[in-house]
Amino acid sequence: MIKVAVNGYGTIGKRVASAILAQPDMTLVGVSKTSPNYEAYQAQRMGINLYVTKESLKEFEEAGIKVKGVLEDMIREADVVVDATPNGVGAQYKQVYTSMGKRALFQGGEKANVADVSFSALCNYDEAVDKKYVRVVSCNTTGLLRTLCTLNRVSKITRVRGTIVRRGADPKEVKKGPINSLVPDPASIPSHHAKDVNTVLKDLDIVTMAVVAPTTLMHVHLLDVTVSSPVTREDVLSVISSTPRILLVSGKSKVSSTAEIVEVARDMGRPRNDLYELVVFEDSVSVKGNEIFLMYAVHQESIVVPENVDAIRAVSGFADGRKSIEMTNASMGIGKGYLV
Ligand code: NAD
Repeated sequence: MIKVAVNGYGTIGKRVASAILAQPDMTLVGVSKTSPNYEAYQAQRMGINLYVTKESLKEFEEAGIKVKGVLEDMIREADVVVDATPNGVGAQYKQVYTSMGKRALFQGGEKANVADVSFSALCNYDEAVDKKYVRVVSCNTTGLLRTLCTLNRVSKITRVRGTIVRRGADPKEVKKGPINSLVPDPASIPSHHAKDVNTVLKDLDIVTMAVVAPTTLMHVHLLDVTVSSPVTREDVLSVISSTPRILLVSGKSKVSSTAEIVEVARDMGRPRNDLYELVVFEDSVSVKGNEIFLMYAVHQESIVVPENVDAIRAVSGFADGRKSIEMTNASMGIGKGYLV
């Protein structure tokens, strides 16, 4: 059993913790919190061991939340630490993980140089095997890489041009916007997403542009992908529909928006309405000679969760990427084919 600790129990950390609890080959040592907020109460209710920083021990005691120990106690117990602290905080923790001789995963909000390798399970699982530090790329980059490494199986990709419509905030974030605007983010081109894709697919010719939109549900990507030989729409749909972690949604099902996709996740009884799979709008998939066009939606809060689970196995020396992906998918109910 791989003993895993989660440092930072927010949007990503709590989902990764739940996923670890579902794995047959992992145990959750505990999670860390810095303040006794609703997430800490919820973790306590779920029977998850809570560890806190020394400075916040008193605050937790006053809030009546039982803690198992301090952060260093949790790290000491673990084989692997999943760092899910806010952007840039993970890099500050790296020296703690190093000094305690622990393998660690970082999230996409950290700079790529925090880790030995940037990771996307369908693209480069093998490169992460036995590495000490791995960075699971961001939600948008995970969406791009999952799509590109799948389309590359139809015909070798030579060029990608993409537009990203980013959600303005996660549903719980009350202080972020925009509320009534579309904002180029960044205004300059390319956006950082292309550079981030290049941390995994190093020589790919890719340019991305991004706009942030007043929505909290999902991101949407619009891609124009050039491949090395002419392909058919059927070739593209056949590869997409047979790849786990990618779902298709057809206009016939009357699901034509991110709102309806999330509603289906609710109807499916998915924990926290999560959709770990990328959702491709089938009607958008079209082909012109060597060019493939498509639009798909990315559930930002959960798409990186299965990637974290696979990265835990990889850094622990589990060399069979295909098997790891299968185990993760089976334990989390992750599918392929059609959403409905
Ligand atoms: P979040 O703010 O929801 O959660 C971060 C958690 O870390 C909070 O519980 C916070 O209390 C805790 N924390 C803050 N400082 C800490 C410290 N010094 N020590 C321990 N814990 C501390 O953030 P998030 O959205 O979960 O993002 C975490 C990482 O995941 C970031 O790198 C982010 O870029 C990345 N990510 C986020 C999303 C998303 O959509 N939310 C998607 C993919 C990747």
